[in-house]
Amino acid sequence: MLIGCPKEIKPQEFRVGVTPNAAQEAIAHGHDVLIETGAGRGAGFEDADYTAVGAQIAATAADVFERAEMIVKVKEPQSAERKMLRDGQLLFTYLHLAPDPEQTQDLLKSGCTAIAYETVTDAQGGLPLLAPMSEVAGRLAPQVGAWTLQKANGGRGVLMGGVPGVGPAKVAVIGGGVVGTHAARVAAGMGADVTVLDRSLPRMRYLDDVFAGQFRTRYASKANTAELVAEADLVIGAVLIPGAAAPKLVTRAQLSDMKPGAAIVDVAIDQGGCFETSKATTHEDPIYEVDGIMHYCVANMPGAVARTSTIALGNATMPFMLALANKGWRKACEDDPHLLAGLNVHAGKLTNAPVGEALGLDA
Ligand code: NAD
Repeated sequence: MLIGCPKEIKPQEFRVGVTPNAAQEAIAHGHDVLIETGAGRGAGFEDADYTAVGAQIAATAADVFERAEMIVKVKEPQSAERKMLRDGQLLFTYLHLAPDPEQTQDLLKSGCTAIAYETVTDAQGGLPLLAPMSEVAGRLAPQVGAWTLQKANGGRGVLMGGVPGVGPAKVAVIGGGVVGTHAARVAAGMGADVTVLDRSLPRMRYLDDVFAGQFRTRYASKANTAELVAEADLVIGAVLIPGAAAPKLVTRAQLSDMKPGAAIVDVAIDQGGCFETSKATTHEDPIYEVDGIMHYCVANMPGAVARTSTIALGNATMPFMLALANKGWRKACEDDPHLLAGLNVHAGKLTNAPVGEALGLDA
């Protein structure tokens, strides 16, 4: 199969869908790989890194879309890209169709078969192609939180780990899933005093078993959340209720109980955020202040570390990409119900029930 990978054109997107390692594996399985020139540059991969493993370089995105049987990307196809998709072509990328009727209509019209990273499942009930980005965002959260706490950024001027004779920053992480666990690990590694709040007892038992001594857990009742938020130098929002907007767990009124210059990093902002005062920001202008509390609410945090994110995503997508190329999408989906869960569009029809429900369309 000819696997094509265009350069991402969504603003501020530096990741690339196929790494040189993934290209090499596909070629070893007898496939051809066509990469648009410069597609990997934002993630630190030059055209020469691809040609060294046997991939071909295309001069334009149009060439990739025209020739490839499967397009592998990172972000949902933008309007110009959707015009180039054709009947029977396979598209493997993040789609997030539920809030995007315009993209959905274009994909349906194109006749392509689209498999969305975000709805592929695994045997543990997780989302294996979202997890790597949650790991990245989680580990990044204390790093950007520490920066937000610096005086020049409007923060309290508190060092995460303290120094001998001076206590560490207090960090409250709300939500102990993938993001929260990675955030807590890194914050604890920086020497901060960390507590994770969650509502799932099994999850807290797991965290307590594995991370005892590194950070504590508390049940996320309203009272416990209010107490820990008021004491914290840094609060990290990391809750998720699958398929729903994030619950607002900290109100504006509660900001006045917090220490002036304390920082909030709301990782859950891509689901609306779990602080009443959260609004999405960008990497160019990531921080704003409300009632003396500094808010960092970047909706695509992994983009800040495009190289790490690209490699992490590539590791997760590669086995699925190979299955699709080796067997064709139909047999690959027949053999693997978790990959089938990723099928969102085929031959002009929506094929994912929750996405159809969200859009008010038959699926
Ligand atoms: P996850 O499902 O692994 O974890 C969510 C956790 O929240 C679970 O442990 C759950 O028990 C807990 N939870 C649910 N309701 C709660 C409540 N009321 N109080 C306390 N805990 C509660 O999800 P995840 O992968 O860790 O993702 C967390 C959020 O981060 C999601 O909204 C995700 O979309 C977002 N995210 C954002 C970025 C970004 O760049 N901003 C990147 C990756 C993920």
